Amino acid sequence: MAQQETPLKPSVLLLARNMAIAAACAVAGYFMVQTDETVVIILGGALLLCGPLMFIALPFMGMPARGACPECGGKIETMGSSQQNLLCRGCNSYLDAGGGKLVRSDPNRVTEQPVFAAPSPWKDVTLVVYPTVSFSVQDAIQDWMTTKKGGVRVMDAKWPQVCCVCGKPPTRLDTVSRVFAKPGNIVDTQIIGVAEDVPYCNHHKDGIIFERIDSATPGASGCFGLKFRSLAYRNAFMKANPWPFTWHQ
Ligand SMILES: [Zn+2]
Ligand SMILES: [Zn+2]
Repeated sequence: MAQQETPLKPSVLLLARNMAIAAACAVAGYFMVQTDETVVIILGGALLLCGPLMFIALPFMGMPARGACPECGGKIETMGSSQQNLLCRGCNSYLDAGGGKLVRSDPNRVTEQPVFAAPSPWKDVTLVVYPTVSFSVQDAIQDWMTTKKGGVRVMDAKWPQVCCVCGKPPTRLDTVSRVFAKPGNIVDTQIIGVAEDVPYCNHHKDGIIFERIDSATPGASGCFGLKFRSLAYRNAFMKANPWPFTWHQ
């Protein structure tokens, strides 16, 4: 099944759909800012801004396209004619779109920000609602235990023993944490997720983050997991920790 590259077909229908989504956002935003609820007004304002911005940006991104994953044959949709680091939900490969083709992403690629996704072992977590907070982790955990309603979760993971950014021998082990929410029936539970003993060399930090993950497979909604700057490290991590992605519809 695996091929070097597969053709990408530009789709007018997809462009029309994306335009319709942009327009719908703007219209929904317009009505939302006219209510009395502050939260609704804020959300509406964001939509009112994003809708037209999307509308302006879409034509510059080139034609959205459809193609088959060169690794597993699964359906892939792109937002524009060239796009990097598209995740296939069928085989968990990363793909690049460009020049009318889909190819596998360079397995040694390292991005400026964490991009490459791996699953977390927590199946019940579906949303990230808080931005990354940079604080001393020990303080945060202590504060959390004593004052907040949620729990602390420490991820039981095997970390490949090389720097998680560049792959060189590690010189220190870092702790990574993020506050997020587990959706509940009545109220969401706030949780602090912690990853301990993440290996780094002297030159690198911030190579991973807990984050919402999206794929380029049509119809697939997001899920929760980890993102890495290094695709090679992400692949090694997934081998060492063979958890499945928990996609939500
Ligand atoms: Zn695939
Ligand atoms: Zn490094």
